[in-house]
Amino acid sequence: MNAPDTTTDLRAKAMLLEKILNAHYGAPFAFFSQRDPVSEMVKTLLSHRTKNPVTKVAYNTLVERFPTWQQVIDSPTAAVEDAVKLVTYPEVKAPRIQNALQTVKDWGEGELTLDYLEDMDVPAARKRLAEIPGVGAKSTAAILNFSRLQMPALVVDMHHLRVAARLGIVPAKATLEKGAKILQSYLPADYNGQQVFDNHQGFMRHGQKVCHWRGPNCGACVVRDHCDYFQKKNSNPAAV
Ligand code: SF4
Repeated sequence: MNAPDTTTDLRAKAMLLEKILNAHYGAPFAFFSQRDPVSEMVKTLLSHRTKNPVTKVAYNTLVERFPTWQQVIDSPTAAVEDAVKLVTYPEVKAPRIQNALQTVKDWGEGELTLDYLEDMDVPAARKRLAEIPGVGAKSTAAILNFSRLQMPALVVDMHHLRVAARLGIVPAKATLEKGAKILQSYLPADYNGQQVFDNHQGFMRHGQKVCHWRGPNCGACVVRDHCDYFQKKNSNPAAV
């Protein structure tokens, strides 16, 4: 990140990049699902270190075998583990999901719901979700933004973070958690869930399609004129 940049400059740059990327990739983007937040929590817990298509198959298998979340809680952990065996670490995720569902049920005094989060602001709702064992910062945002609640919590994955770091709007070595905090702070306070979702999608799609981890395709990049990495590479190829 260039030293002379101020927070105001970086926010303006982040907003300009969002505009270019969203126009390029075709925002507004369709939301992934209309899942309720409890179901989104389960899907998110399955998704750690697992590719999206595999997560989807495992999630669908789970809900086919156990049509209610209460049945997941009541079933032997081995049976839950077998249903989600395609994901990474099913032996960890199965008990984690059962515990998370039990926590949600305890909070709801018997009712398995997180719908009440909609009445909280985003920081309070994220704080609440982070109390569930196994639910990290990225997951709290995913549960709020990707579910039918569509709350304005910014999800930042490794694609999003890598692109933001190369462009110079987060420090090069920022962790996912720190980068997400910085990127969320750039967004206007009145952004709705769709606008926040679009921000994530634009950067993430750019990371998936052009700004690859190995060998970014800078020649085909619509934001290269604003990219710290690209400028550095051109001025000193050995430095990147
Ligand atoms: S110019 Fe290259 S490094 Fe920079 S964002 Fe584009 S693809 Fe990524």
